[in-house]
Amino acid sequence: MAIKISNRAKAIKASPTLAVSSKAKIMQANGIDVINFGVGEPDFPTPEYIKEAGIKAINDNFTRYTDNRGILELRTVICKKLKKENCLDYKEENILVSPGAKASIFNVLMSVCDPRDEVLIATPCWVSYPSQVEMLDAIPIFLPTDESTDFKISATQLEDAILTNSNPKAIILNSPNNPTGTVYTKKELEAIANVCLKYNILIVADEIYEKLIYDGEKHFSIASISEEIKAITIVINGVSKAFAMTGWRLGYAAGPIDIIKRASRIQSHTTSCVNSITQKAAVVALSEDDGSVEKMRQEFEKRRNYLVKELNAIPNVKCYPPKGAFYAMPNIEFYLLNNKKNIHNSVELCEYLLEEFHIALVPGLAFGVDKYVRFSYANSVKNIEEGVKRFTTGLKSLIH
Ligand code: PMP
Ligand code: GLU
Repeated sequence: MAIKISNRAKAIKASPTLAVSSKAKIMQANGIDVINFGVGEPDFPTPEYIKEAGIKAINDNFTRYTDNRGILELRTVICKKLKKENCLDYKEENILVSPGAKASIFNVLMSVCDPRDEVLIATPCWVSYPSQVEMLDAIPIFLPTDESTDFKISATQLEDAILTNSNPKAIILNSPNNPTGTVYTKKELEAIANVCLKYNILIVADEIYEKLIYDGEKHFSIASISEEIKAITIVINGVSKAFAMTGWRLGYAAGPIDIIKRASRIQSHTTSCVNSITQKAAVVALSEDDGSVEKMRQEFEKRRNYLVKELNAIPNVKCYPPKGAFYAMPNIEFYLLNNKKNIHNSVELCEYLLEEFHIALVPGLAFGVDKYVRFSYANSVKNIEEGVKRFTTGLKSLIH
């Protein structure tokens, strides 16, 4: 007789971003020329100087378990980075290094959420936030946004949500944002932070795309507003996106010591620590600079400019110009409402485009909003050109 699966596990769906990408990879392995706009990860190799640090760590036999919170050398470098780049003063004991920012967020949520606590999340949102909240038997409360507010929540919207729900505990704020590319200004963050302070709401500030920002926009770290705000904020960051290190698995959380200490204990019973080699590579990534991060940013900006222009040239498609990260999320509602192929939602549309036109996109529904699809432009210009052609032809085929 089959072993009964837990109710918790039954309720969790696989990450749709990773699922789209693996389906595309299977098609590619079968010889189909799929253009993959699915998963969001830089298509560049990890910069040489960082790779060399990893190789040196292996050759130096730095291959054992480390301090569960991350090696002191790395936590010191993270403190220096946060001070220099984000005007944030933390000590090493305020830092927890985890196997990816995804794990950082989960450790933090697990440290603060009891069953039925509510976690506020602006939608469209990154796929893993609601799933992580649900895994803890806490409740995601969605705050919808759209193009009319540049995909941003307002302080009033937040206050209304806090007052109309029974157990608000935390908000996850992601700027620059996946999937919309929106970037909150200092003023907007101040207004949001004041509401959180008024109602004692923990701010989980996911700043993983901080270095991928365009049009001269500036990233502002909400925790740097004041000591009072810093005391209710956990800053999440990592090396995956800025340094093209998605497979190395390293993220970190910085915040009040009581939360970080609890999160470290949880990690000590799950993953122990981040692999030692990656930690040494991250020390170099976060303390040296050979210009490759800025070169990648410039390349992403070029691709964004091209992709957004082309998407907006497609009849009845509107694409908000993303200011950061590496995603564009065109509004395709017209094609859901006016098609002859019996396609009812963004999931069916993406399946159709993948099967018939060999482009992999993530359906808006994965981010909580059906009328969009997400392109990751962490892809070569050549692929973007060809992909947009296929997308255009695919959409046209729906209405003719
Ligand atoms: N936050 C956001 C918004 C992301 O898009 C990602 C990408 N996977 C992560 C966190 C986690 O990144 P990682 O676990 O690779 O550090
Ligand atoms: N964050 C990336 C994305 O949204 C990577 C995949 C994932 O971890 O969700 O595509």
